[in-house]
Amino acid sequence: MNRKVIIIGSGPAGLTAATYAARANLQPLVFEGAQPGGQLTITTDVENYPGFPNGIMGPDLMDKFREQAKRFGAECYFKHVTKVNLDSNPFKIWVGDETYTADSIIIATGATARLLGLESEKELMGHGVSACATCDGFFFKDKKVFVVGGGDSAMEEANFLTKFASDVQIIHRRAELRASKIMQDRVINNPKVNIQWNTTLKDIDGNVNDGVSAVVLRDTISGDLRTEECDGVFLAIGHTPNTELFDNFLDLDDKKYIRTDNDSTKTSVSGIFACGDVQDSIYRQAITAAGSGCMAAIDAERFLEIMESS
Ligand code: NAP
Repeated sequence: MNRKVIIIGSGPAGLTAATYAARANLQPLVFEGAQPGGQLTITTDVENYPGFPNGIMGPDLMDKFREQAKRFGAECYFKHVTKVNLDSNPFKIWVGDETYTADSIIIATGATARLLGLESEKELMGHGVSACATCDGFFFKDKKVFVVGGGDSAMEEANFLTKFASDVQIIHRRAELRASKIMQDRVINNPKVNIQWNTTLKDIDGNVNDGVSAVVLRDTISGDLRTEECDGVFLAIGHTPNTELFDNFLDLDDKKYIRTDNDSTKTSVSGIFACGDVQDSIYRQAITAAGSGCMAAIDAERFLEIMESS
């Protein structure tokens, strides 16, 4: 059966779009993807989402988003879209061998924080290891934390973390930062931040109950290993927008984020809308993603109205 709207992705953007689309009687179908609930499901406490003055666990918040969307008739499936064809309307979507068609599509596939690929990093994610200082910095009051990376994100996260942590150590694999001069200067002039050059993260010690206790560092020149005690590790080695499926159909920017019109979620293809981190490399917050999910549903509703009346 052809659908009016299919939503791909189930973070705050996708599920907010689902609630709004469902309440507009568009009977949205949501394909939740490989990480149902999105990036918030790998954080623990979320303390900056309005409406939860005592905070809420990331996975619980996303369960509430889904429950709210389903209450109005959104159909949510833990399915991963494997292929799309956006050349003509109705658009085609594949989930393995199954094919679906829709008059409009809302893309909310998010972005994935790049990780180093360590076992310990995966195990301790949300338990002392984080890829988001804005989300988790607050938990490191008067603690010592490490930030991995040498770009603008790492500088920004390191500076932000000094609001809470007493000692912030940046580790960078080279002897020169990639970050812009102004961001470098902020870090260099911040007495709470120290940069450990030519250093990579070899391993993280800790456990899910007590969090992080130490990092094992490697000197990239001598190859020597050293262990330093600490309470947290922040990875800031970039994000990758989840846009591989759309590369051939939509305009992407030079960092592969989907381009949308100003103050809108419209993409380069009429009837295809994008919201949340897949089109936002700047704010990347649950609340901004949810806001743009709402915009996408309203944009889709207006598009469908015009389509049906013409
Ligand atoms: P980025 O510029 O790609 O920097 C990533 C950093 O992580 C680099 O220093 C890189 O090292 C390091 N890195 C990557 N893979 C690594 C690995 N496997 N092991 C160790 N280190 C690794 O990413 P970003 O900092 O997230 O910035 C992305 C874009 O957003 C940039 O255009 C940036 O200017 C922009 N941004 C702007 C602001 C701002 O202006 N306020 C804030 C944040 C981001 P190498 O340098 O050795 O490659």
